[in-house]
Amino acid sequence: MIARAANLLAISLTLALAWGAGAFAQPASVGPGAESFRLGKLQLTALRDVVDALPNDGKVFGVDVGPAAVAQVLQKAGAPTDKIRLSIDALLVKAPGRVMLFDTGLGPAVHGALVASLAKAGVSPAQVTDVFITHGHADHVGGLTTAAGALAFPSATIHMSRREWTAMQAQKDSETLARLIATKVQPFEPGATIAPGITAVALYGHTPGHVGYEIVSGKDRLLDLGDLAHSSIVSLARPDWRLGFDADGKAGAAMRRATLTRLAASHEKVFAPHFPFPGVGQIKAVGDGFAWVPEAR
Ligand SMILES: [Zn+2]
Repeated sequence: MIARAANLLAISLTLALAWGAGAFAQPASVGPGAESFRLGKLQLTALRDVVDALPNDGKVFGVDVGPAAVAQVLQKAGAPTDKIRLSIDALLVKAPGRVMLFDTGLGPAVHGALVASLAKAGVSPAQVTDVFITHGHADHVGGLTTAAGALAFPSATIHMSRREWTAMQAQKDSETLARLIATKVQPFEPGATIAPGITAVALYGHTPGHVGYEIVSGKDRLLDLGDLAHSSIVSLARPDWRLGFDADGKAGAAMRRATLTRLAASHEKVFAPHFPFPGVGQIKAVGDGFAWVPEAR
């Protein structure tokens, strides 16, 4: 019972950290962006919300090894070593009779561009039929509300794993949001096919109920990784390093290595919401780690 209470406390502290504004160093608007590509018969579009730059201070990346080791990895990739740049993006999938949005960005609290990006893709918020949430952190659920506090996608069913929905309802920071979306949420068990061609994949570790989404059309497939990996450089080169954002650092790292190993072997297409926009590409095995191969455009 004590272990369970401690565990719950750790989860809620980490969620509070990641949900609180403090977790996002300097979210900056880069304006709207929408980049479309095809997956079988489906049209997919990566949508920009904001970009963020986390200081390389050992609080999120390199909690075990410190900023100098992180800087070494960044330098090897030719990236700045004092901060880690993360995109905050979402994914739109148009299928017959359905307009599906995967995650919603940080939203109006930081003047996110998601709705403007949707408009660039020719979609109004009222046309969205389904929203699929990878997990309940602010940079994925923040855009579920408008600046006025109303539902941003009033016609949409909101899909999230039952474990994540339970955790989100128990989290004080997300109380208002949970109340707002309660009648729209349809919780599911991972593994289930939630819509034609859309299957949820349990990728626990980052949060208690974090999932990715496998999107399939004909023989083409893509996995929306959610927050399995944050930095296209550090998270791939050193997948075993614990991440300050992960509710369970050990489980998050183990899940990251196992999933990246599988993706490098299958050459499956990947969408990663925090990788450089548009975040579409493949994972390749390099030495003991991995590297990002953005899709040629
Ligand atoms: Zn995230």
